[in-house]
Amino acid sequence: MLGRGYMRGTCDVCERKTIFVLRGPWIRGDLLCSRCGSRPRNRALMAVLNEQLPTWRSASFHESSPGSPLLQKFRRECQGYVASHYYDDLAPGAVRGDFVCQDLERQTFADGSFDLVVTQDVLEHVFDARQALREITRTLKPGGLHVFTVPWYYWRPTVVRARRDASGSVEYLLPPDYHGNPIKPQARSLVVTEWGRELLEVIDGAAGTTTEVHRLDDANRGISGAFVDVFVSRKPL
Ligand SMILES: [Zn+2]
Repeated sequence: MLGRGYMRGTCDVCERKTIFVLRGPWIRGDLLCSRCGSRPRNRALMAVLNEQLPTWRSASFHESSPGSPLLQKFRRECQGYVASHYYDDLAPGAVRGDFVCQDLERQTFADGSFDLVVTQDVLEHVFDARQALREITRTLKPGGLHVFTVPWYYWRPTVVRARRDASGSVEYLLPPDYHGNPIKPQARSLVVTEWGRELLEVIDGAAGTTTEVHRLDDANRGISGAFVDVFVSRKPL
């Protein structure tokens, strides 16, 4: 089916029949919805969110560092949606355009602010992921959900590629690897950690949550390929 470079199906992001087009060698990144531009991991997250929190449209909802077609959908359909990016030239909590400035490790949101926090491919770029997870959980209401994607190398141990020393400078333990950065297209984001099999223990150990992983493989919804796992961490009641 993919040999011809496209497949028909229904997209969970734009909720329409569509054609998924393979625009490169990498299904996870390159199998795009021809209508909304979503990628398999965006569609997987949407499918799991609809299943786990069907009332998300009426939720108080924070997304950190959005950079996918889901941003427009969430803004359009959820009144309680707030999107944040980290800007090193803005005070935490200040607003730039449609985004509020937040450092995921030191957020200015009050405890128990949100029913839902979403992060899409963010945790591999955070220097202190445990602190970020504690902060995400702090800002959730009891029973609230953190729904997220992160490349998960479940078959091997975690690899730390870079760390931040006490003075704040970056120490590279392995050659730097970068992903795209939604607010600085030319800057790119450094991959700090390749999360391996310890990830679930790290999350729940740091934040006191209970985490499940959902893996969908559904060609009719354009959800296939590697690294389409969707994690759902629940804060205790
Ligand atoms: Zn679509």
